[in-house]
Amino acid sequence: MERKSKVVPGKTSLADQELCDICRDKSGVRDARIICPSDVATAAWVRLKCQFGCDGYGQCLVCPPFTPSPEQMRTVLDAYHRAILIHFAADADVKATVADLERSIFLRGAWKTFSLGAGPCYFCRKCSVEDRKCRHPERAAHRWKRVE
Ligand code: SF4
Repeated sequence: MERKSKVVPGKTSLADQELCDICRDKSGVRDARIICPSDVATAAWVRLKCQFGCDGYGQCLVCPPFTPSPEQMRTVLDAYHRAILIHFAADADVKATVADLERSIFLRGAWKTFSLGAGPCYFCRKCSVEDRKCRHPERAAHRWKRVE
């Protein structure tokens, strides 16, 4: 059953169905669902799994230890009342698509829209971890969408 979000004055009036339809119109998107950000779990142990279980640890500015802590992410998630969970086809250009979606939804009035994802970033041939300064910050963090 589709979840209904309340439209609060001062927040975007985009309906849940409209947001999902915007996502489903994109190439490579199989489905999109509204979820409650409070249902997204954060946990301290996840960072250890990255640090001691992944060769990519510290190799990309969108991976630990450069990413927000679990506590910071909890605070960020709690600043939103709905999120969009997007299911992509295996061969979809996920990062580029969600970057486009973020801009599209932002321009429709959802100014808090921000997208997050998992996995390393592939926009540059070599990530600028030495400089600690992302070359494309407006595109690098994207995969998972959240709006007001
Ligand atoms: S855009 Fe480039 S510099 Fe930024 S995280 Fe991705 S690979 Fe690294």
